[in-house]
Order: sequence, then structure tokens, then C-alpha cells
Amino acid sequence: MENDIEKISATAWQKTEQLTAAIAKTSPEDPLREAAKKLNITGIRFVPLFCSAGLAKTGSGFEVVLNLDGVRGTSEASSNFEPGSEKWFTLTNRMRFSVAHELAHLIFLEAADGDWREGVFDTNLKSIEGGCSSLARILLLPKQMLLKAVDEQLFDVNLLNEICSRFRVSPEVFIRRLHLSDMTGAFAGLDCVVALVQDNEGILIIKTCHIMGGDSKGRFDTPYEKVRVKKPKDHSSLSKHFRQLAWAIEGLPVAKLGIDDELESKLRRDEKGKWEREVPFGKDTAITCEIRFLRRRSSPLSVLLSILVTRHTHARTHQKLV
Ligand SMILES: [Zn+2]
Repeated sequence: MENDIEKISATAWQKTEQLTAAIAKTSPEDPLREAAKKLNITGIRFVPLFCSAGLAKTGSGFEVVLNLDGVRGTSEASSNFEPGSEKWFTLTNRMRFSVAHELAHLIFLEAADGDWREGVFDTNLKSIEGGCSSLARILLLPKQMLLKAVDEQLFDVNLLNEICSRFRVSPEVFIRRLHLSDMTGAFAGLDCVVALVQDNEGILIIKTCHIMGGDSKGRFDTPYEKVRVKKPKDHSSLSKHFRQLAWAIEGLPVAKLGIDDELESKLRRDEKGKWEREVPFGKDTAITCEIRFLRRRSSPLSVLLSILVTRHTHARTHQKLV
């Protein structure tokens, strides 16, 4: 049936929402490990693989198989990573994302009543891979737990850094989580940009970002829509739940934001920073922004950056701006 993948993916999305909502009620230390238990994952096994991960059927459930690459010793590789064991907490953020992605494959399989339906899954391979990565972000950061943790303070880079540590996810996974359709309308009272900025061959680029509020969108995204590098084409055959945001400014140099001539040198020089700045927006008008940043890694440089609009459009107070 032509619409099979749309139905299966809609069911997979709903199953993931129900699962994570139930998990969030108990506020567990690690929502991913609770999801693994509920999905009958018996453990994680490390083997040499050509791809990063896979699933294997075991007697009573499924085992997540991860690539041995990146695992230090054979003792570690052969340890039991069952969801109930403390060993689970030694998984790296990257491994955790792979585990979450494989759990999403399992949810897709259950949504198809356990039938691989080769035709449907094979012809939509790319969409399903993208879709599983979206569901992985929900499993790692369930909506209810995320909203509670952020508490409308999305511009607080210190808090964002803490949340990434607590949920054991990279800032990229955290920010891209905000692009998903279930977050529509969240943080409606905020007018800000949160971004992960990284050095790419000597240029600081906006690796990924999320933008909320009219002035932020109008000033920091709309002007770049014409130069957008590419629109994401994946997930196209999946249900509407999987549509997600992509910002025009993603992938462009941070200097393009035009907020401060000194921005790049500050990001390169300092561990953290916070200052206010009037940013031109329109011919004779401006917005006032509070800029904050926090270094995540020195080499290659990786920085969390936020721009909060503290004063909406007003007449410019200075003649000469950035
Ligand atoms: Zn996959």
C-alpha cells in the first residue's frame, strides 16, 4: 500500500510520545535507560561493524549492537551493558545516541506489527533513518522533562550546558531536539536565538541553532532565507509529525549575524561572556540584545551562544553601529 509508511511512521511517533510521557512522570535519572527497559532491550553488545549500530533478536527481547570502534579495552567491550546495570552510565554521548536511534528502529518495527515489510522499509530507507534520529532525540530528551528543566530560561547558556550534562547529550542533539514538531509553541514568550558555534577550518560557523520570537526571526533568520545552503529533504515520505524546522542561518559564519564586530574575537579569546548591545534592525531602528556565550571545548573550538532580545524594535540611539 502506498500510504503504509505514512501510517507506520505516525504510529511510531505516537508510540514514542506515549512511552516518553509515561517515563517523564517518574522523573528517572536517565529516560533512555527506562525506554530500553520498557522496550525489552536485554543489553548492549560491542562487535566490529561496518555501520555504527544495529539490533539483534535475543531469546526474550532485543540486543543493541554497537560498533567496537572507540571502545577502549576488550573487558569493557564484553561487559554486560544491560539497562539495569550501572555500566550503562559509562556509555558516551555518541553511543547513547546510537542506542536511542536503534530503539527508534525497534519502535518503527513494532509500529509495523513486527513485520519488516521489506518493500516499505527498503524503499523508504533514507526517510526512516532520518525519522529514527528524530525519535532518538525525543527518547533522550522527553518533552515534559525538557520543558521542566529549561523552565523558560532557554537563553541561559550555563543552564543549557548543565542540561546537556544531566541528560548526557551533545548541545547539537539538544538544539536539534527543539526543531521537532512536538515543540511547536513551546517557549512562546521568548524572543531569542540559541546556537552551537564551531570552528570550521578557521571560520566560526553556526553549526546548528534554534530561533524563537518575531524580532529574532525577522532579524537573524529571514534576511538569510535566500542564501540558505540546502533544505533538508529527508523524512519526506513520513507522516507530518516528522516535519522539522531548519534555519537559514545554520551553516553560515557567526559573523553574518552582524551583532558585534568583536564577537568572533571574544568567542576565541574568552571562556564565557555576557554583554548588552544595540543591534540595527531596519533603516533607523534597532533591537537591544543580551549576548551570552560559554565555551564547551577548546580544540576545535565549540561554543554555546545565545542572543536574547531585551528591548523590541525602537529608534536607534547611536548613529554608528556595528
Ligand atoms: Zn538506522
